[in-house]
Amino acid sequence: MNRLPLLAVALLACKSAPPPGAATTPETTQPATPAAPTARAYDQLPRADLNRWAVRQNLPVYWIADRDQDGQLDPDEVAALLFYPTQGDWVRDGRFTPAFDAAYDQIVRAAKSPLVVKTEDDRRRELVGLDLDQGRATLVATDFTALSEGDKKFVGHMLVVADLVDDLYELQNGATALEPKLPPDLESRSLFRRNRGPACVAPATEKDPLCSAIPGAPKPIFDLYPAELQKQADFCATLQKHEDARTLLSPFTVVRGSGDKLTAVPYTEAYPQQMTAIADELEKAAAAIQDPAEQALVAYLTAAAQSFRTNDWRPADEAWAKMNVDNSRWYVRVAPDEVYWEPCASKAAIHLTFARINQGSRAWQQKLVPVQQEMEQAIATAAGRPYRARKVTFHLPDFIDIVVNAGDDRDPLGATIGQSLPNWGPVANEGRGRTVAMVNLYGDPDSLAARRAQAESMLDAASLEAYASSTEPGLLSTILHEATHNLGPAHEYTVRGKKAGAVFGGPLASVMEELKAQTGALYLLELLRAKGIISDELAAQSYTDAIVWALGHVSQGMYTGTGERKTYSNVAAIQIGFLLDRGALTWDSKARAGNGKDVGALTIHRDKLVPAVSAMMQTVAGIKARGDRAAAEALSKRYVDGDVVPHAAIQERFLRFPKASFVYSLRM
Ligand SMILES: [Zn+2]
Repeated sequence: MNRLPLLAVALLACKSAPPPGAATTPETTQPATPAAPTARAYDQLPRADLNRWAVRQNLPVYWIADRDQDGQLDPDEVAALLFYPTQGDWVRDGRFTPAFDAAYDQIVRAAKSPLVVKTEDDRRRELVGLDLDQGRATLVATDFTALSEGDKKFVGHMLVVADLVDDLYELQNGATALEPKLPPDLESRSLFRRNRGPACVAPATEKDPLCSAIPGAPKPIFDLYPAELQKQADFCATLQKHEDARTLLSPFTVVRGSGDKLTAVPYTEAYPQQMTAIADELEKAAAAIQDPAEQALVAYLTAAAQSFRTNDWRPADEAWAKMNVDNSRWYVRVAPDEVYWEPCASKAAIHLTFARINQGSRAWQQKLVPVQQEMEQAIATAAGRPYRARKVTFHLPDFIDIVVNAGDDRDPLGATIGQSLPNWGPVANEGRGRTVAMVNLYGDPDSLAARRAQAESMLDAASLEAYASSTEPGLLSTILHEATHNLGPAHEYTVRGKKAGAVFGGPLASVMEELKAQTGALYLLELLRAKGIISDELAAQSYTDAIVWALGHVSQGMYTGTGERKTYSNVAAIQIGFLLDRGALTWDSKARAGNGKDVGALTIHRDKLVPAVSAMMQTVAGIKARGDRAAAEALSKRYVDGDVVPHAAIQERFLRFPKASFVYSLRM
């Protein structure tokens, strides 16, 4: 939907290409004329407000930082953003363009003349603005000006792949079908762009029935299942009971038909044109690569293109698993993978993760690979029977610096910071998958400052001593989280002949798998600390960081506006509740929080963390090992839906701060 014509993308991507009309601009044709004092100021709005109102105006403008601290937006401080309906052409020869001046004036005008609410539609637009404001535009910037010409061509093709992947994703999630109903106002259009559809998604607005990019708040109809079927409130349960449930809920198909006569249609047959277009573009990307050291990448792109033609993802997974930090400078994953996006949590969503390999992973890899079997044994022991430790041969996370996220990867708020793939097939079953940590996200000064302020609003001063304003403790959590997806009862584990999806049902199965992984992120810290692999200080910081992570997810609410479980929020509430029940965390309604202002604070009791976390691992891995659905539901009832966790206080404190909403820029 945000797809730009190919030519435009190429120009957008390559600053070196001559911009149209460049030769006739006064700057280049009349260099001898002394520059008339341009004397216009760009100090009308502080940086945070400028960025916020640019989002509301659906304009791809971003003030990166006030580097010279003069309170003025300068040409070297602005970024043009990708994935907007228009391209930003903001700076030429070191000076702002007339297009930029117009955009700047538009943003200032909007900020200084807020909407006066008179009608119900004004009220809707006001809510839409509030939904947008709960995200703080946060820049993922990449500078590719030094790339070779071949690599630049490759990147240009990958940006086209990104747009094609977005198109298919938004066709499948029902957004495209609703696009003609969008009203002309810019905040509604911006919301629809950012949220990948009309629904509000931010905590303070998502449950308001009026909050939608489209008047009347139509519910998107996923193209994955018959529209008729989706009118039933519990249509996923209906599908699960169908005699062909296994086939109908298989990940790379859509369900077509009516009544009981339902069939599973492969993605390649349901979307031949879209899938072929992606395949063609991936082949062009492969052909553009001239670097002989990138053969593994060429092999993957070629295999992925083939899979987009056949719907058989195994060859692509095989080629992908062969890529690593040693044989490529790039990280590409383009495939249908995760299932969290849709109501039945069964169909794999198309996405593109396009990133650079960051060499920082090697040090962690060398530390952790020698103990991976011990980590498996520790989790197997906690799980108990019938699970038995198996030989694990996973790769620890590769670190990547995201360039762009497309399709299912580009979330309205927040972003995936770790991922273990594939989810199905021999590469997954045989532990040959890859795990990555996205290390260039959340390290920007705005994100670090906002997160510390959140931590200080909830934890007492003593507990904050182990809170570090850096990304390393969180990175360690991510590494161990992703590692744990490969440990204990994992994707292919069966109990009484059933996999987790059949035992727990899709959404609860997702919660339990993520809960196992995030509990591993806590549980394995002590194993590593005791062995001297990490310092006492880093272990303490990582517990604290993981608790702040969990509080953040609790604050986002437990269910979506349409009543589906929020996987990570559920995970977080279960962890916080479990720690409270075991006394590793206590809530004192009279204690002062670390910021010295808020009354009512949480205390972390470090001496009780290790035993509490061990008990948590036993509970969680044990439930997965035994396929104990009743126990899983009991955890959810007590902590997700019950009152053990101070949900309201956590929400009130954390939601004062907007969440990161990632935006992307690329210089080339
Ligand atoms: Zn996970």
